[in-house]
Amino acid sequence: MNFTQAFITSLVLINLIACSSQVSPIKAWAEFWHPMPQRYVNTVIQRLTATGLPMQSLGSVHYAQQTFPLKVVRVQRVAKQAPVCIFAGVHGNEIAGTEAALSLIDDLARDSSLYPQTNFAILPLVNPWGWEHGFRYNYEGQDIARNFALQGTQETVLVKQLLAKESCRLVVDLHEDSQHSGFYLLTYANPDPSFTPRLVQQLAKALGVEVAKQVPQGVYQVAAEDFATNPRPTLSQYAREQGVEQTYIIETPMQLALEQRVSIHRKVLDKLLTQLPSHTRHLAPCENRGALLETF
Ligand SMILES: [Zn+2]
Repeated sequence: MNFTQAFITSLVLINLIACSSQVSPIKAWAEFWHPMPQRYVNTVIQRLTATGLPMQSLGSVHYAQQTFPLKVVRVQRVAKQAPVCIFAGVHGNEIAGTEAALSLIDDLARDSSLYPQTNFAILPLVNPWGWEHGFRYNYEGQDIARNFALQGTQETVLVKQLLAKESCRLVVDLHEDSQHSGFYLLTYANPDPSFTPRLVQQLAKALGVEVAKQVPQGVYQVAAEDFATNPRPTLSQYAREQGVEQTYIIETPMQLALEQRVSIHRKVLDKLLTQLPSHTRHLAPCENRGALLETF
């Protein structure tokens, strides 16, 4: 068999294997085309373990003979109080959110006087496969954020279990944006519509950072009446529907340096943690239904 014959034979064989394969086209794409990992989930887990803070596994996601645990770090400052729940790495390529969550965990472990009245449940890697491979999506090509309330993924099943168990009093999900030049927030049926625009303006001034020009007052405020038709039924929207009175998404512009993006995440978190806790809560289902109906 000469080189040309061998080449054609191998192409036919590859085609036959691909056609007889049971994997979905998206899985096949992910298997053949993902770049080599640049980051390792195990390194993050080792870093979290080194803090000495209590850490639990929500369960694991399983892809291509690999297993990735979803780890939640807990900080218990006050007895019998619902935690602030912070999520990051839903989109694997938006690394500033995960870095901000990790730096917050480090600081909470180091300094017991930091946020002395607040308990935390922090999940820095919601999409560990995506984070390890630098991809927005999970291994199956699913956008976890866009499909959170609609279509179950292995990751969303585990996060929904956490939300059902924790009765979080505040949910913050850390993201990044490649289109906008400034930072902005999203809120869902927020009971105080003037709070977030005020907070964004204060922060922009204090940090000397631009607010996203295309976003009115730097905040997309999603009303309850738009939940059903929202093309992005995110983790934060889902949490709001489950009774968390205040839920936020923080978006930082990817065009800034990583250090600056992490700093914005931390500063917005700090504002939310220091200005909101006294009046945030997790609502019982009936109470929440009433609160959501009031926003119509
Ligand atoms: Zn995102």
